[in-house]
Amino acid sequence: MPSTFTKTFDTPAYKGTVTIPLGLYINGEFVDPVEGGTIDVVNPATGKVVTSIAAGTKADIDIAAKAAKEAYKTSWGLKVPGTQRGKLMSKLAVLMEEHIAEFAALDALANGKAYNTAYGKDNKGAIAVMEYYAGWADKISGKTIETNEKKLAYTRHEPIGVVGQIIPWNVPMFSLSLKVAPALATGNTIVLKPSEITPLSALLFCTLIEQAGFPPGVINIVNGYGSTAGQAISEHPLIEKVAFTGSTLTGRKIMEAAAKSNLKSVTLELGGKSPNVIFDDADLEQAVKWAIHGIYYNHGQNCSAGSRIFVQEGIYDKFLDQFTEQARAIKVGDPFSPDTYQGPQVSKTQFERIMGYITSGQNDGATVHLGGKQVGQEGYFIEPTIFTECQPNMKIVREEIFGPVACVIKFKTEDEVVEQANDTSYGLAASVFTKDIDRAIRVAHALEAGTAWINCSNQAEISMPFGGFKQSGIGRDLSEYALENYTNVKAVHVNIGLRL
Ligand code: NAD
Repeated sequence: MPSTFTKTFDTPAYKGTVTIPLGLYINGEFVDPVEGGTIDVVNPATGKVVTSIAAGTKADIDIAAKAAKEAYKTSWGLKVPGTQRGKLMSKLAVLMEEHIAEFAALDALANGKAYNTAYGKDNKGAIAVMEYYAGWADKISGKTIETNEKKLAYTRHEPIGVVGQIIPWNVPMFSLSLKVAPALATGNTIVLKPSEITPLSALLFCTLIEQAGFPPGVINIVNGYGSTAGQAISEHPLIEKVAFTGSTLTGRKIMEAAAKSNLKSVTLELGGKSPNVIFDDADLEQAVKWAIHGIYYNHGQNCSAGSRIFVQEGIYDKFLDQFTEQARAIKVGDPFSPDTYQGPQVSKTQFERIMGYITSGQNDGATVHLGGKQVGQEGYFIEPTIFTECQPNMKIVREEIFGPVACVIKFKTEDEVVEQANDTSYGLAASVFTKDIDRAIRVAHALEAGTAWINCSNQAEISMPFGGFKQSGIGRDLSEYALENYTNVKAVHVNIGLRL
């Protein structure tokens, strides 16, 4: 029997006690892992271990995949009408809402994000995503296609079967929901691996699945390391599709494993180095606020973070002054303090990685205009950092830092900035700030990115697709488009009089 973890929070933001089982959730039960391993979960605000969760490996993924296959054949997939699937998903959304404060507390504890962000954005967002796709469950339909009078021809959008899903740590419950919800709505069964760094909220989610009425085996959640449990998902022959959110490096490995095993289909939501282009005629006050949100929201740990800020020479000095003033005013501190905007970075590894980038920027000749240092002695806090005097070939300009580090770069002309903004292997998102509507649309179209924001940044809408061009990914999350990730199209030809 897996053990449980109980934590009493007595903080300004949240007071309450949360209990979760620590095992793997397979076939409707919490079980111990076959090999019996564990993973320590660390509070990044202190660097101290909070608890240890069960670590699944290849053998557990195999059991989960078989359970998911059985559930697909007997109690989900084409056996259950969309209206029923939608009802269960709506119930799950209601249960998530009832426990939203606990979800937020667990995410703030393991991720270090501000409790208010975990509550208001991540978990509210996760619930809204579940509700949105619950509404889609009875609206999955094909087309009747006119061919000739002696044939009835139509398409069906059938579930794929067992799908594997692997998610990162930056928005734990939001990532989980935006993978699980469209897969359920379209009738697939699931083997999902959360990030080993933030596994706690997913375990709370597991306790709600049976209560919502899902048959055993429909949703299986197996914690574990990427190189073992994650790799096993990518390779498993019963898993017919893998949906991944994480780094481009891992995405490449997953695609390779998927190709070598059963050629499973792959969708990838990967990294970014998003440009934020601010022209002389922009509303400066708004551009500064959106630029702050663009890079520093969630401690810079956003795939779509506007980490390269290009500012036209006419307003460069004014922009830099105001941007610096607001970055300096960011409240860095305890995730459970109500006025905290920026908590610690998620882990020691990430902390060291980001500090390494800061050193590399300095060594390459860029100027640390603000920040650049650790905050305090304990935990993984980093000052909001601004680099100026950046050159296109510097690592800090080319690579995803995934931390609170902005590069502010001066430009002269529209052509020049479009060229520079597109000079990246990534293509996730881009922003443009100008009052000239022609230019706004022209530049938004010219930027090579899956999302273009005009006079705003870092905005997701559930009903709008999100995903990358270039090495930022394949496929789209959110919106009606995500349903395509989880269905196979079958063409049915019915002979109504054709004679051979
Ligand atoms: P990561 O790639 O290290 O890990 C992501 C997940 O993959 C984790 O669950 C990990 O255990 C697993 N994993 C690691 N190695 C694996 C392997 N060999 N096979 C299978 N699974 C494996 O990424 P991370 O550090 O958790 O997250 C940060 C990255 O995620 C950033 O690059 C960020 O840009 C990206 N991200 C992208 C989006 C998007 O929508 N495009 C959203 C959030 C985060």
